[in-house]
Parts: sequence; structure tokens; C-alpha cells
Amino acid sequence: TTQPVNVTVTGAAGQIGYALLFRIASGQMLGPDTPVRLRLLEIPQGVKAAEGTAMELDDCAFPLLAGIDIHDDPRAGFEGANVALLVGARPRGPGMERADLLEANGGIFKPQGEAINAVAADDVKVLVVGNPANTNALIAASNAPDVPKDRFTAMTRLDHNRALSQVAARAGVPVAEVRRLTIWGNHSASQYPDLFHADVAGRPGSELAQDRAWLLDDFVPTVAKRGAAIIDARGASSAASAANAAVDHVHDWVLGTPEGDWTSAGIWSDGSYGVPEGIMSSFPVTSAGGPGATWDVVPDLEIGELSRERIDASVAELVEERDAVRGLGLI
Ligand code: NDP
Repeated sequence: TTQPVNVTVTGAAGQIGYALLFRIASGQMLGPDTPVRLRLLEIPQGVKAAEGTAMELDDCAFPLLAGIDIHDDPRAGFEGANVALLVGARPRGPGMERADLLEANGGIFKPQGEAINAVAADDVKVLVVGNPANTNALIAASNAPDVPKDRFTAMTRLDHNRALSQVAARAGVPVAEVRRLTIWGNHSASQYPDLFHADVAGRPGSELAQDRAWLLDDFVPTVAKRGAAIIDARGASSAASAANAAVDHVHDWVLGTPEGDWTSAGIWSDGSYGVPEGIMSSFPVTSAGGPGATWDVVPDLEIGELSRERIDASVAELVEERDAVRGLGLI
């Protein structure tokens, strides 16, 4: 039998955590043959609720769930972690400036990066979900000098999935027939969903993009502002779809992206596509899967003028956030 994979989830008692843990424990993230051991990390006030979720996990009698333990200390929570999902973050409170938000999250993601550096497994793969996700991932990665930078990623898969769904609806085709969309830049309102390279049921996405009014006044803002639209409708943030995207991200990283397709992930820029090195920006990526799997940037896409401008604007925002956390001494 296979050794269980240690999966650490922070913010385990939150809304996303509640939607996420059962999917992981059922085998949907790492596959039907891989047992998992869950390590839940919470702040002390969240521990009791996490214990309740752990009771429910027990009550599911998932055959693949090899154990659950709960911690409020990052050094214990990341011990031996093979996969780490960093979901817990400090939400923006009323009247909070962006600098305050970055600083509050620095207080979470700096010690978590240090703990991952010290105690996680050698093959640790990290996905940051908690916002501002790209910059939180940058802080964690920068504070884990012994872990290769390509093991830290930020989630733009929900944006990617939202874009797939919007394009499928527009074209009147099943979502499974939409491929090769890309989210570029920051997981924020400045992100750029790019359909110029997409394959939409055998037709080039650039055909749909010819309707510039739809592209710029409908598609791009609908994807970028979907989170707010869901809060409006549900009276609460998206949680199940965010958890689903986290499952998709880790699944494709560990098991590989499908032949002929790619996905989107925030990764440490190597300078590809004119994105400055050393920021966590979203790119079109593939993974070959397997033990040493990495996210590899899809090469040689032609970037037109419209896309260039949008990518540059979102990247400029990431550079600003990087400079801000640098100024705060967090990286
Ligand atoms: P959620 O579980 O709803 O959200 C958690 C984080 O995910 C937030 O930063 C949220 O950002 C972010 N997020 C990213 N993408 C999305 C998306 N598409 N939709 C919604 N959220 C998204 O938050 P809760 O408040 O329910 O739970 C947070 C938990 O984390 C609490 O239990 C808290 O105790 C815990 N926590 C743990 C920490 C730790 O382990 N050290 C540190 C801080 C908190 P946004 O705010 O922008 O919506």
C-alpha cells in the first residue's frame, strides 16, 4: 500500500476549508489510490470549530483518510507536509488600507513560510488561496530560502474556471470543449482573462474576441468581478467554487494537465512574457505530473497589443504590492 500524503490546510475552520476538506479526504484532489493524512492549522480561536469539522470527516468514514490532526502552531501544522493549502488569511476590514492588509497578512505568511522551510517534506507543494493570494505567496516563498521557488503558487484557477464557463455560455458549447484559456497577472480586479489562444469547440477564441464590446465590457469584467457578484447574490463569499479550484490546481499539478490543454496558475516569474522576475504572476501553465512535477510556462504565445496592455497593467499592480511588502521588511 502507498504511504499517505500529508496535506496541511490552514484556515481549516473557514468557509472554504469546510468545502475543501471533504473533497481532499474523498480522493478527488490526489486521486482514488492515494491515502491522505490531513493536518489542520487554525488560529487558537478556530481550533474548536476545526475539531467539529474533523468529527464530521471521521463520520464520513472515507477509506482514503489515514488520519487528522489539528494544530495552532505553524511549526507543528506543516510538519512533513507534502501539500500545503494556505487558505486562512486576514480579510480586509472596514476602513483598512491596503498597506494594513499587506502587513496583517505578512504576519501570517512570513511565519508560515519559515515553518514550511523548517519542517515541511522535501517535495512540498504549496498553494496560496488566502488573499491577496499572489503577494501572500511571494511572502511565504521569500521566507523559505531552502525550498525551490517553483514550489510556491497562488490560485488563479477559480478565475480560469469562471472564464471557461463564460466562454462556453457565450459560444453555446459544453464547457469541456473550451481549452487553452489563460488568466494573466494578479488575482484581483486587474487580472486579464485571455481568450485569443483558446480553442472553443474547434474554433479559435480570437473569433469570439472580434466582438470587442463583448470582450472588454462583458467577458473581462464578468470574470474579474465574479466574486462580488456572488457575494451580492448569495450574501456570502464564494466558497465551494474556490475549494473546487484549489482541488483542480493541486490535482493537475500532481497528476498532470490534459494533453493539448493548459491551465492558469500564479507562479514565481522567470521573466517569461516580459513579466519581471521574482513576482508571483499568473501564466498559462502545464504540468507533466509525477513526483517532481513543476508548473511550466506555455512558451511562444503571440501577445497582441490589447493583451499586452492588460497584462502590463496587472503586472504593474503586482510590482507595487511587491514593493510595498519589501518596504515593510516582509520579503
Ligand atoms: P474563507 O474560507 O471564505 O476565505 C479564506 C480566504 O480565501 C480569504 O482570504 C479569501 O479572500 C480567500 N479567497 C480566495 N479566493 C476566494 C474566492 N474566490 N472566494 C472567496 N474567498 C476567496 O474565510 P473564512 O473567514 O470563512 O475563514 C477563514 C479561516 O481562516 C478562519 O477560520 C480563520 O480562523 C482562519 N485563519 C487561519 C489562519 C492560520 O491558520 N494561521 C490565519 C488567519 C485566518 P477574501 O477575504 O478576499 O474573500
